[in-house]
Amino acid sequence: MKTLVISDIHANLTALDAVLQDAGKYDQVWCLGDLVGYGPDPNQCIDRLRDLPNLTCLLGNHDAAALGLIEVDAFNYDARRSLNWLSTELTTFSRRFLEMLPAKVALDGITLAHGSPRNPVWEYVMDHNVARANFDKYETTACLVGHTHIPLVFTQSPDSGSTVFYQEDEHQFKAETKCIINPGSVGQPRDRDPRASYLVYDDVTRMWQNHRVAYDFRIVQERILDARLPIKHAHRLGEGI
Ligand code: ZN
Repeated sequence: MKTLVISDIHANLTALDAVLQDAGKYDQVWCLGDLVGYGPDPNQCIDRLRDLPNLTCLLGNHDAAALGLIEVDAFNYDARRSLNWLSTELTTFSRRFLEMLPAKVALDGITLAHGSPRNPVWEYVMDHNVARANFDKYETTACLVGHTHIPLVFTQSPDSGSTVFYQEDEHQFKAETKCIINPGSVGQPRDRDPRASYLVYDDVTRMWQNHRVAYDFRIVQERILDARLPIKHAHRLGEGI
C-alpha cells in the first residue's frame, strides 16, 4: 500500500494540486495539519482534501486558531492579519471539517502529530534537545510531524541521543530505529527550496521517499496580493523561507 504524506498546505491550492498530480497513484493520504493560514485558498484546499482516498487529517496550530481554540495573540503580526482574514473567509462547511480533526493519532504502526508527540499542536521539533525529549512520548517506531516546514529526520541513537539528516529530493530511507520524520511543507517550504515537499511511504518495502515538485508560485503570489493578505507571505513563496 502506498501512502501519500503531506503537511502544512497553508491554503495554497496550486501547490497542493501539483503534489497530487506528481504523486501519481496512492491508496491513502495522511495530512499532518495546517490546512489554512497564510495562503489565499482555504476553502478550496479543504474541498480538495475531502475528496482524497482514505484521508487521515490532523489539526495544526493555524487550523486551531481559525477555530478560536488558540488566541491569535500567540501569532506574529502578519500571521494574525492572515488569521483575521480567514475568520471572514472560512465557510461553515470548512469550519465543521476543521472541528472534527484530531491533534494526534497512531495508525498502521506509525504516530502522527502536527507539532510533536508530547505537544501535538504547538511544539516545534527543530533541534536535538526537543527530539530527545519526545522519543519516549510515543509508542511506535516512527512518528510523523509537520509544523517546522523543513524535511528533517531525527533518529534516536543507542546512547539515547539523536542524529539528524535532511531529506534531499528523491531521498529514500527506512525507519528501523525510533525516529521523528517531517515531510516538509506543501504550501510554504522554509528550507530555501520553493518547491512543494511531500513523502510517500510504501508499507511493503517499508521505504519512505521524499519528493519535491515545482509549481507556479507567481500565480499564488498574485492571489495573496489580490486578497490583500500580507505581502511578506507572497514574497516568501518565491524564496522558500
Ligand atoms: Zn505550518
